[in-house]
Amino acid sequence: MKVFSSVAERLEAIVSAVTAAAQRAGRTAADIELVAVSKTHPPEAVMEALHAGQVLFGESRVQEARAKIPLVSGRARWHFIGHLQRNKIRQALPLFELFHGVDSLETARDIQRIATEESQRPTVLLEVKLSEESQKFGFTPDQLREQMEELLALDRLTIGGLMCIPPPQPKAEEMRPFFAKLRELRDRLQTECRVGLPQLSMGMSSDFPIAIEEGATLVRVGTAIFGDRSGKAWRPTGATGEE
Ligand SMILES: *Cc1c(COP(=O)(O)O)cnc(C)c1O
Repeated sequence: MKVFSSVAERLEAIVSAVTAAAQRAGRTAADIELVAVSKTHPPEAVMEALHAGQVLFGESRVQEARAKIPLVSGRARWHFIGHLQRNKIRQALPLFELFHGVDSLETARDIQRIATEESQRPTVLLEVKLSEESQKFGFTPDQLREQMEELLALDRLTIGGLMCIPPPQPKAEEMRPFFAKLRELRDRLQTECRVGLPQLSMGMSSDFPIAIEEGATLVRVGTAIFGDRSGKAWRPTGATGEE
C-alpha cells in the first residue's frame, strides 16, 4: 500500500475510495457523507482537512470537542460519534448537528428532557448492538423493535436512522454480515413502524468500502485520514487532565 504523507493526500484517497465503492454498489457518492474522525488530533489537523475540502468532522468526547471546535473555522460541521454520558448532554447539544450513538431509551429520554429545557431539536441515530458478547453500548435488535414506539414519541428528537460499531474482525470482508444486518433491521423497522430511517452510520477506516456496498450513508473514518491515534490525546494548552 502506498504511504501517504499528508492529511490532504490521504483525504483524497479516501474520497476516491468512497466514490469507487458507491459506484460498485450502483449508488452515487452524493448519497454518502464522509465523517472525518478528528478525536485526539489537534485543531491544526482539522484545519488542514478543511483546507483540502472536508467540512464534516466527528468527535467522541464532549470536553475535547468543546475546546477544539472554537479553534477551528466556523465552516466546519460536527457530529458526535461516541457514547453520550448523561452529564454531558447539556454541553453537547449546541455543538453537534447529529448524535450518532444514542444507545438506550434512558439516554434518549434524557436528551428529550434537556433538549426541551434548552430549546434544541437534536437529530440522533440509534446505536445497535449486533453482537452480544463484545459490545458495551447499544440497543439489541429486539429491544429496538420493542422500544421504537416510545422512542418515536420523544417529540424533541428526530430519529434519522441507525448506527453500529461491530466487533473488529480479522478480515474486513467479515464485517459485511454485520453491516447487512443493520440495513435489514432498518428496513424492517421502517415497515413495522411506518417511519423513515434514511441514515445508516457504519464503516470505519478498515472497512468503509464494504459498509458503503451494504448501504452506509455515513462512514466514520479517522486513522486513514489523520493517522494513528495510539498514545495521542489533544488538550488545549493550559488545560488540566480532567474529563
Ligand atoms: C474512533 C472512531 C471511529 C474512527 O475509527 P478509525 O478506525 O480510526 O477510522 C469511528 N467510529 C467511532 C464510533 C469511533 O469512536
